Amino acid sequence: MISNQYTLIDLETKEEVVAAARGKLRFMKLDEKSSFNKIVTMKSKKDIKTIQISPKVGDYVYYDDAEDIPMIMEIMPRENDLERPDVANVDQVLLVFSAIKPDFSFNLLDKFLIIMSQERLKPVIVISKIDLVDDKTLNILKDQLQYYVNMGHELYYVNSKQRIGIDTLTHVFQDKITVLAGQTGVGKSTLLNALMPELGLKTQEISEALGRGKHTTRHTELYYIHGGYIVDTPGFSKIEFHIFRPEELKQYYQDFSELSEQCKFKSNCMHLLEPGCAIKHAYETKEMLASRYENYMSFIEEIKAQKEKY
Ligand code: ZN
Repeated sequence: MISNQYTLIDLETKEEVVAAARGKLRFMKLDEKSSFNKIVTMKSKKDIKTIQISPKVGDYVYYDDAEDIPMIMEIMPRENDLERPDVANVDQVLLVFSAIKPDFSFNLLDKFLIIMSQERLKPVIVISKIDLVDDKTLNILKDQLQYYVNMGHELYYVNSKQRIGIDTLTHVFQDKITVLAGQTGVGKSTLLNALMPELGLKTQEISEALGRGKHTTRHTELYYIHGGYIVDTPGFSKIEFHIFRPEELKQYYQDFSELSEQCKFKSNCMHLLEPGCAIKHAYETKEMLASRYENYMSFIEEIKAQKEKY
């Protein structure tokens, strides 16, 4: 992207179009329900406001190619709007965890799922490096992770180096914008190389180093991948949820919500020490994955500790 120039993909022809943004585009009338209101202050939300908007990566736009230079005429409302990476309309996040090196962490998985739920993003869980653990260890991990599959999550096991499990993963990208996320060392680059061997050296740009401290002015870009697009920089480098009241945490646990109907205090139950708590009962009778509830309790402590700092 050079100043006011944007590369678009025409959704009908699938061809690249270089377009400029119409000057008037920068001043859009917003009504109360507009998704662009997110960036306007609460006060101005009451009125219909005119604000400046620039197209960003991931935007769906209308363009007019009647002129010499195609012009972007209108930006469609954004489904979501991420800052890191700087991209709009993300459909899903490919959450990569390694079976080992670094060790698989249920704490990190649960934390990521809370963040995905907060951002209203669909997670697709990928377990990498399955060749580096023995069958017994892998089966134990698979048994535990089945809990998440039962919750409705999509989960894939891959060995990127030998391209094992890669073919079953390719269909998830169709018609979607995907962001890749995961700790350093889980093999995000190796996975992308296995998914897009044609990209060859270029995937080195999608290196683990990009997510950290390197100052760069380059723009976020989308790569075509199996019928959809993937963002070239990994997301969610800071794995922190922004929850300041302990009572807010439970809403991000979809497996808690149905059970909580049976809690003595129903929606007022914090699922901690209350008598007649159905979630605690499910934990004690092992119907709930132990780590799931234990992480919940430790996150509650984290939120409380954070609160005490203020
Ligand atoms: Zn409860």
